Amino acid sequence: MISSHAAKCLSTRTHTLNNGVKIPVFGLGVWQVNDGNTVQESTLKALEMGYRLIDTAAIYGNETGVGKAMAQSGIARSEIFVTSKLWNDDIRSGKELDGFNITLDKLGLETLDLYLIHWPIKGRIVEPWLALTKIAESKRVRAIGVSNYHEHHLKALAEKSGVVPALNQVEINPLLQNIPLRNYCTKLGITVQAWSPLMQGKFADNVTLESLATKHKRTVPQIILRWNIQENILTIPKTTNPLRMVENAEAFDFELDAADMAAIRALDCGKRFGPDPDNFNF
Ligand code: NDP
Repeated sequence: MISSHAAKCLSTRTHTLNNGVKIPVFGLGVWQVNDGNTVQESTLKALEMGYRLIDTAAIYGNETGVGKAMAQSGIARSEIFVTSKLWNDDIRSGKELDGFNITLDKLGLETLDLYLIHWPIKGRIVEPWLALTKIAESKRVRAIGVSNYHEHHLKALAEKSGVVPALNQVEINPLLQNIPLRNYCTKLGITVQAWSPLMQGKFADNVTLESLATKHKRTVPQIILRWNIQENILTIPKTTNPLRMVENAEAFDFELDAADMAAIRALDCGKRFGPDPDNFNF
């Protein structure tokens, strides 16, 4: 069973976006979780134990199950924060509004909490952003943002639009800390959220992380997620395993000291586990 402190933190630890909307600092990612029973049951389990942020996307193909879990949970809509993302094909074909409508429909919601441009499409950086600003004006989404945007993509947006993204969701882990981008986002008032915080599960064999885990009598995922919390990086680890959902959330239950934080800082070597946003082929 999850500690009462961790359960409480899942719902009460929030961060205020640049438009005043509050987002939980810790949530559940559902990439590569099959639609239907798998996503519905795991999302429901997470909501029952206290998770209040679910991160899905049109391309994950599981918005329907996420929406069903939200309804089944009986938790007030206002208590759950759901993020989804506009897929690349809809950007390339200029069908941003259709993409958004389908997402809302699949989730069975009238309002989305956060809608992101999933990837920066060369030659179409600004257009989807202008479409999202229109959707935001319609009040059917509480906040809009981007994902996988480098500094140069954000600069292009700033030149053409007066609306600053609320959030940039990018790959961040101890080996890819993205410090210059995070500093740039902070300067602009853009919140940063980490995707693949647990290196897509490939966190074994790191001597530093393992020694910190031994020191604190915790696990390596807990060390990484605790580092996220203390670095003010919003995080959305994915698991369908309820025991791991508990384990991950209990990152709220201990503290890393300055030397621990410095040891993790020293691991930064720019290693990506996902694609580089300047060079992808989908
Ligand atoms: P994560 O870094 O969260 O790692 C997930 C993997 O780690 C899974 O294999 C999971 O296995 C395993 N895992 C989770 N917790 C533990 C634990 N305590 N002990 C051991 N293994 C564990 O990977 P993701 O790539 O899924 O990233 C998280 C989320 O970020 C995604 O689900 C998605 O929502 C978002 N994302 C966004 C992207 C974007 O472009 N905007 C790109 C990629 C991800 P198991 O499920 O079997 O427990």
